[in-house]
Amino acid sequence: MQLSILGQENYETDVVESPQNGRKSKFGVMSHPIVKVMKGPLIDSHFWKTLPITVRGMMDNGIREDGGGKVNPLAISVDVTKLCNLDCVGCYDHSGPADSNWRDRSQLTLDEWRTHLKDITQRFNIVHATWVGGEPLFEMKHRIRDGVKLPGEGRFEKGGQIYVEERWRVVESGLDLIPYNMVVTNAAYKWDLPQWVDRNVSFVVSIDGTRPFHDAVRGRGNYDRSKKKILSRPDLKFNITTVLNKSNWQSIEELTEEWVDVPNVYGIAFSIGTKIADQREFDGGKRGGEVDANEGYHLPWDLRDRAIDRLIAIQEKYPRFVFPARAALELMTSSRFREAVGYGGDRCPLKAGRVLSLDSMGIEKEPCVLGPGADCNTCGCIIPYTAAARRNEVSSFRHILDFMEQYTHYK
Ligand code: SF4
Ligand code: SF4
Repeated sequence: MQLSILGQENYETDVVESPQNGRKSKFGVMSHPIVKVMKGPLIDSHFWKTLPITVRGMMDNGIREDGGGKVNPLAISVDVTKLCNLDCVGCYDHSGPADSNWRDRSQLTLDEWRTHLKDITQRFNIVHATWVGGEPLFEMKHRIRDGVKLPGEGRFEKGGQIYVEERWRVVESGLDLIPYNMVVTNAAYKWDLPQWVDRNVSFVVSIDGTRPFHDAVRGRGNYDRSKKKILSRPDLKFNITTVLNKSNWQSIEELTEEWVDVPNVYGIAFSIGTKIADQREFDGGKRGGEVDANEGYHLPWDLRDRAIDRLIAIQEKYPRFVFPARAALELMTSSRFREAVGYGGDRCPLKAGRVLSLDSMGIEKEPCVLGPGADCNTCGCIIPYTAAARRNEVSSFRHILDFMEQYTHYK
């Protein structure tokens, strides 16, 4: 609207090259002095430069040719690896260290991922990628024994004695293809976080409650390791993600208070663990945990409703730090969850195909990142609830914008 009022003389045409397919497209930049003052640095921002791709992605509601009636995805979720430095109870992906031999360690090599990601981003207008795993920033040196072929990409040092696993290179290759990226990491490792300070990527650290609750799930000492890693990088912005289970919901307030004043932590997102058919349960405290294996991991509906009451209260206290917004939290309760996810997920935008989830072999996972065992009737993922709340409440949309502003540090 403003464009026609200001007139053509107030536009400059800019040519932007899509990082996805190399195609060049033109778009107008408002050059009226008043608009320039209003927009300020936005014109040079990452968002502005990727606007054509972003708008195409948002508007592309076509049906996937090969997707069984699914819509075209605008985002992807990538299991970069099955390898992980941790071995958490209840890991949705059954990931873990290389030395645990009962798990499937299959994964694409770096070159295979490069080809696959290029193909996907040429087919679809992918706006956002979530890099998960396993540990998506996994890095490890393996000693080669008797010509054993280890999974993944690597290089050989000193006559083939050492095999270097650097899964973060897969993520790095995606940063050149996809405008917005989010790495979900445990941050409890010895190697450094990547030097992606000026890149189009944000970091989300999984924290499962205050120290005792976190360490019960992830192993002793890992709460302190993750916190130390975050504090060691004041040049990066972090957010926390916490999945509530039958125990850790008791630490909602204490956890929030513990992180709210950490200078480079910009928010905490609470979700609720979804039942997964093949998910392991707690191991009876063998890891020093406080959780009763017999009672399991999943938060039953009565406790879930109580947890949500407490989340609403803490969200009101820290509205710009705690996510999701009240409107979405209310939809997560036992009396309203079907408004967002329907029956068996038939209202969920993820199940409909808006996010393409890939396993470590690059194969599509359905219905979402949790895989075929996901019980949509117990869904605690914040995405379908946030999407449904956005349709219902303007204030929630405003909250999402506020949160995204904190959540990213794209140039
Ligand atoms: S850190 Fe994440 S991927 Fe690794 S074992 Fe734990 S839950 Fe699984
Ligand atoms: S588990 Fe939740 S997020 Fe996943 S497809 Fe089902 S309803 Fe959607």
